[in-house]
Amino acid sequence: MHFVELLNNKIASSGTSINQSGTTTSHKNQDPSEHATLSKMRMSQLSNQYFAQLNIDPNTWTNIPKDEREQLSEYFPEVLKTVNKQIGDGGDTIKYLYELTDGSLIESVIMKYYDEDFSDSINKGSTDGRSVPNNNNSTAGRSVPNKNNSANDKDVSKKESRATLCISCQVGCAMACPFCATGKLGLKRNLSLPELTEQIRLAKLEGVTNIVFMGMGEPTQNLKNIEAAVRAADKFGIFAKNITISTVGIPDGINELADFSVYEKFPFRLAISLHAGTNLTRDKLIPINKKYPIDEVLDAAFAFFKKTTRRVSIEYLLAKGVNDTEKEAYNLAKVLNRRGSNWAHVNIIPLNEVEGSDYFPSDKATQDVFINALKSKGIFVTVRESRGSDIDGACGQLASKPV
Ligand code: SAH
Repeated sequence: MHFVELLNNKIASSGTSINQSGTTTSHKNQDPSEHATLSKMRMSQLSNQYFAQLNIDPNTWTNIPKDEREQLSEYFPEVLKTVNKQIGDGGDTIKYLYELTDGSLIESVIMKYYDEDFSDSINKGSTDGRSVPNNNNSTAGRSVPNKNNSANDKDVSKKESRATLCISCQVGCAMACPFCATGKLGLKRNLSLPELTEQIRLAKLEGVTNIVFMGMGEPTQNLKNIEAAVRAADKFGIFAKNITISTVGIPDGINELADFSVYEKFPFRLAISLHAGTNLTRDKLIPINKKYPIDEVLDAAFAFFKKTTRRVSIEYLLAKGVNDTEKEAYNLAKVLNRRGSNWAHVNIIPLNEVEGSDYFPSDKATQDVFINALKSKGIFVTVRESRGSDIDGACGQLASKPV
């Protein structure tokens, strides 16, 4: 068993955690013999190595007797092997390709932001700040020189103020949204807790301060591990207020996330990939809308707002000729305003092109008309400028192509 699983079980068996219905439950069914061999002191030393030192090589842990170190390495297997690192956006975006122990491939993306970007994104109200320009300066395939150097290479006067990890939670995805590269892969399996925390640990080594669950996969299909990863992120010093969990819109999953947030006091943000204001349009973009139509999704999202008092982010990608008319904007405003005002804000995502897909981005003028229509109905709107498109690392482009 990996150390983070051991620790999570320990937390769960000594305390309480929430179950599907939101009631608290204890997890006393874990096998206590698994960690009976590790004293409290060892657990805390290992915790310090993993979460604070970010070090998984027991041979270097000089505060632990040498004969024990080798034994301890069984708790820290290499679950992610970095097979490729690509740099985009002039050094501000890094995409990692990881191989898992069963040979599966996943990707995660790190996006670095600077003071001026930061204030800009606050003004725009960006939830996660993925930000764009496809500047054609692709440096894809170049290896990363050294932590932080990429920022310095670019402009020494720029101070990196935050960096966001876009984390994957599944190998592939079962949601099959036709505009998304990951959706074309189908689902292979959920990621384990160590596969999640290793993405975080490796990103911490790059100075990551924020996490968005917007990589490959659907978080509500892997909820127990997502919740455990939020606990782990906290131990890494990445607090829930800097975490966004994005879902295609599964009501039960949204309800559980609300309960988890309230009971365990993790104030993460919730994002819903709505992408349409009518079922007619959403059915085309999100196959699972046939099972969970807009009203059910928004009722759950509104309940999340009520329980947590945190405004929900409604993601809306603009696909040319599909969901980008002024009428669609009014439809969206209507379904949001029907539930109340100021409980959600709309984050417009310009569509990133995906190979072999029939979906294309709307032009700027159409986007502006759409945004103004929403604003005229009192909706707070932000625009996400996508990052990493020069290395196929932008939203919806993660497909884990082997190198
Ligand atoms: N499964 C989750 C999280 C993964 S995708 C979800 O559906 O929310 C993260 C976001 O990127 C979602 O809003 C998704 O709809 C969006 N996305 C997918 N493909 C895209 C594309 N080609 N261009 C822009 N955004 C895309």
